Amino acid sequence: MPNKRVLITGAAGFLGSHLCDRFIAEGYNVVAMDNLITGDLRNIEHLMKLKEFEFYHNDVSKFIHVPGQIDYILHFASPASPIDYLKIPIQTLKVGSLGIHNCLGLARVKNARVLIASTSEVYGDPMVHPQTEDYWGNVNPVGPRGVYDEAKRFQEAITMAYHTYHGLETRIVRIFNTYGPRMRLNDGRVLPAFIGQALRGEDLTMFGDGSQTRSFCYVSDLIEGIYRLLHSDYAEPVNIGNPDEITIREFGEEIIKLTGTNQKLVTKPLPKDDPKQRKPDITRAKQILGWNPKISREEGLKITYDYFKSLSDEELYKTAHRFE
Ligand code: UDP
Repeated sequence: MPNKRVLITGAAGFLGSHLCDRFIAEGYNVVAMDNLITGDLRNIEHLMKLKEFEFYHNDVSKFIHVPGQIDYILHFASPASPIDYLKIPIQTLKVGSLGIHNCLGLARVKNARVLIASTSEVYGDPMVHPQTEDYWGNVNPVGPRGVYDEAKRFQEAITMAYHTYHGLETRIVRIFNTYGPRMRLNDGRVLPAFIGQALRGEDLTMFGDGSQTRSFCYVSDLIEGIYRLLHSDYAEPVNIGNPDEITIREFGEEIIKLTGTNQKLVTKPLPKDDPKQRKPDITRAKQILGWNPKISREEGLKITYDYFKSLSDEELYKTAHRFE
């Protein structure tokens, strides 16, 4: 029997590239697609020589054509850090609307199953804690995060509509803060920001008083959850994240300890609509997928720090955001 063939959009990004690795390791043929606005070919260059791997430099928000059989489509294309989607708001909205529409249309033609990357941002600045999948969220549609949050909410809605109206097989993962190797050092997210600052001997920029919380999941745990969800028969959204919650202040202190630097935490203004707390309720993932995160923050941060340490000085000092 020929290998199953999976299309991954956003394949050169942080999560997309780890998905490519996993599907190749599981014996799939991978069709990787990316427009390289925020993705980086270096994340997948080790796969380029494999006959099981093809790369399309394509924008999924425009019409896409992929010849041959496709069994699964994983839609992971999207800017995903607050700085990115503030810089490229229209592309963010388009990939979450036109992009998923193209994927769903392709899936109907190919009779493929679609899994979409949704996000804890659909809960906005949550009034329910920890966040369960049946919470509808508290999102400001016209705030700075609106372009991302509403695109992802629309993406869930259209995916569910294709499921109920066309009977398409669909899966929705709500991804909470995830970290690991191949995060972009200059994407503005708290972990690469703090580690980059520590490595350059700069103080760590804590936004607000640092009392806001996040719960960080190591990338291999997330990929395992996604892999299990894809192969399940469950079409409702599933949270995947690590419920180990920490304040941003404590997180900064952990990074200072990990990097053994003498840097301080310095306060910067809290961005508008920055969620005050975030922690996944993962009861559903446990029950339906038998999934549980395995990697502690201590372990995951060490691997991630070693990765950032191995980058060149040029990379480390390329702090200016690429859209500036
Ligand atoms: N943050 C911070 N300093 C930074 C970058 C981010 O204190 O240099 C804070 C940010 O305000 C937020 C948290 O860290 O409360 C996580 O931010 P990130 O951009 O990583 O992701 P978010 O969960 O907000 O989408």
